Amino acid sequence: MLVAGNWKMHGNRAGIAHLLEVLSTTCRDFDKVDIAVFPPSLFIQQTAEALNQSTIQFGAQNLSPHSEGAYTGEISAAMLKDFQCDWALVGHSERRQYYAETDEIVAEKFAGAQKAGVQPILCIGETQQQREAHQTMEVIGHQLTTVLDVVGIDAFLNGVIAYEPVWAIGTGLTASPEQAQEVHGFIRDQLTKKDADVAQSVRLLYGGSVKADNASGLFAMADIDGALVGGASLKAEQFTKICQQAQR
Ligand code: PEP
Repeated sequence: MLVAGNWKMHGNRAGIAHLLEVLSTTCRDFDKVDIAVFPPSLFIQQTAEALNQSTIQFGAQNLSPHSEGAYTGEISAAMLKDFQCDWALVGHSERRQYYAETDEIVAEKFAGAQKAGVQPILCIGETQQQREAHQTMEVIGHQLTTVLDVVGIDAFLNGVIAYEPVWAIGTGLTASPEQAQEVHGFIRDQLTKKDADVAQSVRLLYGGSVKADNASGLFAMADIDGALVGGASLKAEQFTKICQQAQR
């Protein structure tokens, strides 16, 4: 199991120091779950120092698809590695929606992160409109295939994919465990068609308004191997309870 907390553009030095201090204690004994936090990039150094003695891992919410050069405001995969990032989110729906990230750009970011030794978490998911038009599997299939075509199935060995229906992110609406399982099963099947061993090694996270009171139902499903948590990851008590439920 892996529980990842995406802090998005929230926090300040004092608040992050406090959150990390509390989580380092409350999550100390969860030895069966990997836990990772994703602060805004400015706070990665602070996070690295605060988690120095902790098993909690950390990563970046985004990275440049380019390895270096004249790309004002961007941060490369090698820079993330230099600051000991274990992980990087790629293709979060907010990046796709507000920064026009295409499947092709997402694939480049995935490949760039992996090349630098930073583990990408590929985020995919359909909009409400697409779900209502019964296009969910088509959209998910396309988002996945575009990355697979660029990086190949072997790049997913021990990889992580987060299924995050856009209509469930930050809305308080959660996919039911059955709805999430249906898509997770589909993703696993798509990967199995390429390589069954790789498919079994991939952790499939669900994301979209995961809270302490709905996590256990989701975690009980066969193909749900953890969660990507937004809002609830900013509250130490909520996040700890979610991690606790993943401890199985
Ligand atoms: C997210 O940002 O990836 C997310 C799932 O957010 P929330 O938990 O707030 O819906």
